[in-house]
Amino acid sequence: MVNMMKAVYCDRGPISLRIDYPQPTVDDGDALVRVILAGVCATDLEMMAGYGPDFSGVLGHEFVGIVEAAPGHEQWVGRRVVGEINIGCGECELCRRGLSKHCRNRTTVGISDKDGVFADHISLPVANLHHVPDDVSDEQAVFTEPLAAALQVLEQISVRPTTAAAVVGDGRLGLLIAQVLAQTGCRLTVFGRHEQNLKLLSHITAEVIQVGTSAGPAGQFADCFDIVVEATGDETGFDTARNIVRPGGVIVLKSTFAGPMAEFDSSSLVVDEVSIVGSRCGPFEPALRMLESGQVRVEEMIHARYSLDDAVQALDLASQKGVLKVLIQP
Ligand SMILES: [Zn+2]
Ligand SMILES: [Zn+2]
Repeated sequence: MVNMMKAVYCDRGPISLRIDYPQPTVDDGDALVRVILAGVCATDLEMMAGYGPDFSGVLGHEFVGIVEAAPGHEQWVGRRVVGEINIGCGECELCRRGLSKHCRNRTTVGISDKDGVFADHISLPVANLHHVPDDVSDEQAVFTEPLAAALQVLEQISVRPTTAAAVVGDGRLGLLIAQVLAQTGCRLTVFGRHEQNLKLLSHITAEVIQVGTSAGPAGQFADCFDIVVEATGDETGFDTARNIVRPGGVIVLKSTFAGPMAEFDSSSLVVDEVSIVGSRCGPFEPALRMLESGQVRVEEMIHARYSLDDAVQALDLASQKGVLKVLIQP
């Protein structure tokens, strides 16, 4: 007999709470994880808006939980864990070369062909799990996945103490990226629209610029930055980044969104020798270390906490401008 559970089901966009969704079954190599706390991310909202239109399944990918079963890997049972969200096929050339997060046959938790975490239980390969240190609270641990995504910027490009870096966007991800970049000692400027959000960066060394609701940073910043990380979550961010990056500089793109990307003048990128770097998921272990040491502060970013029963309201709130992390608790 299959046990039933509550889950937030995404039906190619529209979501609903199901109270009789089948609990996942686990095979050898998989773990059954009881979700303690889950976080709402811009990607979830984009899924609801039509990005990844082919997804039908349980939404959500940011979580902390307790392993309840792990056939063949019993040492994991009872451990508090977070989990990487990409599941490669393990057999293709990309997987063999250690690039399973880019596997063309991958599934991705709550995004592609794999039920997500806005539910009482999830299943995940044991290989995707990371043990959460005791000193990291549930409220911190639920930020591991987005913090790892922020750290991916440093995996991809070199940010030195002499680098002039900018973050465009003061949302959930932008604030994490700003904190991560600040660790390098670089000369950091953060552009955002929300005074409340920008205030959360008072503990780092950065120039914080509040910009108007329509216009991007003023022309005074044209050509100013060696590196610009675009994390606005919408199509306006690229224009701003393009404007403020210097010739020969790098733009790191972090936003995925439902609409088409802003049109850009590719010839001008050639002439100005601007590099564009796409950036997605990152390393979990350093993220957990940074949470444990308190180097990155996340708990102030929690805006609200909802029970799974009220998940639809939680997602509605999270979609409002300027709202930071909304948590869902089964
Ligand atoms: Zn996310
Ligand atoms: Zn593969």
